[in-house]
Amino acid sequence: MAATGEKPRARTGPLPFRGPGRRPRTPKGRARLAHERLKTEYDAKTALDHRNPYEMLVATILSAQTTDARVNMVTPALFASYPTAEDLAAADPADVERIVQSTGFYKNKTRSLLGMANAVVERFGGEVPGRMADLVSLPGVGRKTANVVRTAAFGLPGLPVDTHVQRLSRRLGLTEQTDPVKIEHELNPMIPAAERGDFSLRLILHGRAVCLARKPRCADCVLNDFCPSAQL
Ligand code: SF4
Repeated sequence: MAATGEKPRARTGPLPFRGPGRRPRTPKGRARLAHERLKTEYDAKTALDHRNPYEMLVATILSAQTTDARVNMVTPALFASYPTAEDLAAADPADVERIVQSTGFYKNKTRSLLGMANAVVERFGGEVPGRMADLVSLPGVGRKTANVVRTAAFGLPGLPVDTHVQRLSRRLGLTEQTDPVKIEHELNPMIPAAERGDFSLRLILHGRAVCLARKPRCADCVLNDFCPSAQL
């Protein structure tokens, strides 16, 4: 190369494999290794403060389009005023709006919270259910929220697919799907049921800290020796 005067090209693939074993060649192999490596980087603990499934569901609904830290600023007052689904179901919407206003989209969120609380009281005796089919039947509760509540509050299997999980699972070559439900179903068999929630949470934390949407920090990434999208 030097003899021809050409400059060496920038490396655009993964680095030499750091192990253990051989570089994974299948989506499942990459998912398992990514999970193991990310365990050394991040605690799989939700940042949303909660003491029970009701509080976790409320906090998750409020977390749309805002940060967990922002949600944690408003939930102490909300839970003090409305400690149960029954209390929230009977709330004055204007009072709830006032408390959750700083989380953004507060009118929609208040509508979802009161709708959810009423449904929990009317159909589930005031107790937030753990079954996926029951959770997604509640107003304002989609599959991602249901999976978050199942894993964080009930310790049940679930793999929440948010924008970070979507992006990272495609960059890591785990799936080519773009639809969150299809991604969830493709990822599920790659990770043991009991660890799916932790895997999702670690992908989210890695997506926020390193594998950024616009400019992934591949040089600092613990997955850069087997990620098919590594740009180094
Ligand atoms: S930061 Fe780069 S190497 Fe790491 S997962 Fe994202 S695209 Fe792959």
